Amino acid sequence: MINLYGFTLEEMQSFLITNSYKKFNASQLFDWLYVKKAKSFQEMSNLSKELRAFLDEACAIDLLKVQQHQHSADGTHKFLFELYDGYAIETVLMTHDYGLSLCVSSQVGCNMGCSFCASGLKKKNRNLTSAEMVSQVMTVEDVIGVKITHLVVMGTGEPFDNYDNVIRFVKIVNDAKGLAIGQRHITVSTCGIVPMIIAYADEPVRSNLAVSLHAPNDELRNRLMPINKRYPLKDIIAACESYFEKTSRRITFEYLLLSGVNDTLAHADQLSDLIRGLNAYVNLIPYNRVAEFQYEQTDMGKAMQFYDRLTKRGITATLRKEQGSDIDAACGQLRFKHEEK
Ligand code: SAH
Repeated sequence: MINLYGFTLEEMQSFLITNSYKKFNASQLFDWLYVKKAKSFQEMSNLSKELRAFLDEACAIDLLKVQQHQHSADGTHKFLFELYDGYAIETVLMTHDYGLSLCVSSQVGCNMGCSFCASGLKKKNRNLTSAEMVSQVMTVEDVIGVKITHLVVMGTGEPFDNYDNVIRFVKIVNDAKGLAIGQRHITVSTCGIVPMIIAYADEPVRSNLAVSLHAPNDELRNRLMPINKRYPLKDIIAACESYFEKTSRRITFEYLLLSGVNDTLAHADQLSDLIRGLNAYVNLIPYNRVAEFQYEQTDMGKAMQFYDRLTKRGITATLRKEQGSDIDAACGQLRFKHEEK
């Protein structure tokens, strides 16, 4: 069975044409799937009986199976979904004053091995399909009855280690005939897979790009993020420069504040020297503690000093507030705890 959530509009068109149906049937299907939120082919009343029978036979509209659903007082919802092959993934919904933002997973587990990240405690089992990524959005909208306005591909997994499916996902959710979530409302976050940053600049549909930096020098970044040994900072910065030249889009650098590790004023100075001149801004993230690791969160006072230092040195920065920590919603923790049971 083909899960229709996995097709871009173009792919849906060629799929239908190959099977002797019409190109415009694809737009009708997109409307049923993403605007009317149909769950069966029978209700698609403007499609011919023959097409409905064909779809019934060959295709599926698969929402994900909810294994666990928690929500916290600040409006954060955390889902644990079971996939067809028994693996579990997590998806987190955050409530902001500007809308509802969904944090989508891109892989089952992760091979990047960042030393502070709970997701890396489990090696990658497999990539998620584009259908499974779209289904995270559709299932959450269905279960809570909301319209998601923003997407961040910041759940478990490295999106640029599953490049083609992530691109397909962005195209599907962005399509004006479907969910129509704007490119600027979608953020893909990478640990710094340089060739894919370069490739991403050439995609016809692209989102905001966030690069997880977390350290201002190679010596420290090698320790925190092993991927840095393959793609060191100078290569990342060069890739970001070329990305900006091609796209004119500002890049976000994510910078996790780890107490006593990367949060001194000297680090802030190094960071501002590293990215000065780039059209970028720094998103300072409070660390969400992971029981298996020794890292501690930088306290608010120190975080503010770090932030002030960056801004004084001409770097635009934001200090992100933590959400959902009471339900382990911040990073990869629910799935891990679940599997340890
Ligand atoms: N692999 C991608 C996207 C997933 S992680 C990436 O590395 O960007 C999304 C963000 O959360 C990354 O910036 C990641 O470094 C950060 N992160 C990981 N563990 C965290 C934790 N325990 N607390 C806060 N942020 C964390």
